[in-house]
Amino acid sequence: MLFSVLLYTSLFVFLLGLLYKVSTWFSRKIGIASQNFTTSERISAAIKGMLGVIFSSKVLILAKVFILDVVLQRRILKEDFLRWLMHMLIFSGFMMLLLMHAFESFITASLFDDYYSTVNPFLFLRDFFGIMVFAGLGIAVYRRFILKVPRLKSNSMDLYAIIILAVIMFSGVLLEGTKIISYTEFRNMVENYSAIDDENEIQALESLWVKDFGLVSPNVKGLLDPAIISLSKELHEMHCAECHSSSKSAFTGYFVSRILSPVALSLDSSGVTTFLWYIHFLACFIGLAYLPFSKMFHFIASPISLLANAVMDKDKSLPANIATRQAMELDACTHCGTCSLRCSVALAFDKTGNSNILPSEKLVFLKTYASGKNLKENELKAIQEGIYLCTNCDRCTVVCPVGINLRDLWFNVREELIQKGNPIPLVLSPFSFYRGLNQEKLDSNNYSNPMSLTKNAIAEKCELMKNPDEVISLTPINKDFKEKVDLSYQAATYSYCFSCQNCSTVCPVVKNYENPQESLDLLPHQIMRSVGLGLKDLAFGSKMLWDCTTCYQCQEHCPQGVKVTDVLYELKNLAIKETFNNSATKTQRLKKEI
Ligand code: SF4
Ligand code: SF4
Ligand code: SF4
Ligand code: SF4
Repeated sequence: MLFSVLLYTSLFVFLLGLLYKVSTWFSRKIGIASQNFTTSERISAAIKGMLGVIFSSKVLILAKVFILDVVLQRRILKEDFLRWLMHMLIFSGFMMLLLMHAFESFITASLFDDYYSTVNPFLFLRDFFGIMVFAGLGIAVYRRFILKVPRLKSNSMDLYAIIILAVIMFSGVLLEGTKIISYTEFRNMVENYSAIDDENEIQALESLWVKDFGLVSPNVKGLLDPAIISLSKELHEMHCAECHSSSKSAFTGYFVSRILSPVALSLDSSGVTTFLWYIHFLACFIGLAYLPFSKMFHFIASPISLLANAVMDKDKSLPANIATRQAMELDACTHCGTCSLRCSVALAFDKTGNSNILPSEKLVFLKTYASGKNLKENELKAIQEGIYLCTNCDRCTVVCPVGINLRDLWFNVREELIQKGNPIPLVLSPFSFYRGLNQEKLDSNNYSNPMSLTKNAIAEKCELMKNPDEVISLTPINKDFKEKVDLSYQAATYSYCFSCQNCSTVCPVVKNYENPQESLDLLPHQIMRSVGLGLKDLAFGSKMLWDCTTCYQCQEHCPQGVKVTDVLYELKNLAIKETFNNSATKTQRLKKEI
């Protein structure tokens, strides 16, 4: 009765959780594009999309992806055999235990007429699947805590998943072991399932169970009389054999029973079997009820995400479905860390220690962000750094075993943060190239927003740009500035410039304007001269400096070997350092970066 109440309660909570989680796929909004759709629009777009796939040739793609990527996990195998082995052992073992053992009355008993959990092959298979999960868990612990796979971070969700699985598995094996040795269990079994009521016959049967089934009895000790053995075999055949294979088939439980046998009688009298029964089933029920809210929800979300990604096309799919898929992808992540291993800017994490630079950790943040939780200012800054540093290089997306389109997620959330204001200057780096490619999809004001904010902030601090007349009467040479510029070999080459203007002639940015002088303040050759004269404000505040696309045309065409582009690059770093980072700690950090 208690068992049924707990089972149905946890099933109910599981279903409720499942419903809630799936509903968030249609309500969570990640990025600007998703803001335009209501939940009902997204649900109807999803239904339309699914029907479109089912009644088209795309259904074959679904079948292929299901077999290769969902069942055989081809994508993980390509990346890391050990991880693939771990995944296959845990997933297959656990699923088989769930279907064959946990839901035996619903599934196994209806499929096999002569099903008993205590006869082979079911008895053997249960332990076999169990040992698969143990081996997988062992690999998981080995990878995370001993091998220490680089950049593989463990959070509370990872630990919870490992702990709950470990409790279920260990309590299950211990329960099996203590049941094998338990005299009380034996007596209950005889009473409930056999027709034997003669005490001598029971003792005879008991002898056989001590000898062959690992039972520890307070009555039977030492060698047995051959006559008793013969009677016990007869009784066993008549009453037990149909529903009991040898306990040795349950090899993990039998192994544990041999270890515990010296203290079997004490364990039995203290009710350890009942205690373990409660632990095992409570852990199973808690695991089931909490599954939709835990990392293990990826058991459900990852296959769906893989299938959705296989048949969706960024340019052809309905935008409402893209928004839904992105919300679903947050739940599909297994926090495996493969993306972080391949990320092209992960070296920045190795240097700064900001884990939000790693895609696997950014996704954890994105979950919190999408759920609408408020973040502290320092958290937001760390996250901005991670999001803006991303080059949208696509490497994480290519290797993600569950096919999450990470590049688009970063792009969307970055644009949303930019719109919220206060973008940090990193967004001005050449890494914003991907923004250029997607310019058409962005609001034109928003496109230039981060650039304008930074330019204005710098120009405001540049006295010479505010008072250009002063340039004429200037007594130049800002020694401090020259020293800084002289710090790098490349920057030192500005002194060779003889103002031939080649660099400005070949510059594609200059070519872009009818009146470049007016639009860009200074042209590249004029910036070189400003540097030569030590007029740092003039150089910092010029729009040309910030519009440079780092194409290196100027540098390649300079007859004097001036490293024009490198000088511009260094100037930008200096300007950002001086303008945006006044506090001592930040300056220290930037000094290192520069
Ligand atoms: S995004 Fe993909 S590769 Fe990265 S941690 Fe999640 S599942 Fe692994
Ligand atoms: S797209 Fe961004 S997060 Fe992904 S690998 Fe490239 S730099 Fe890293
Ligand atoms: S091409 Fe070289 S020498 Fe000529 S103006 Fe530019 S930097 Fe100076
Ligand atoms: S690197 Fe910058 S300044 Fe030089 S040609 Fe290219 S855009 Fe112009």
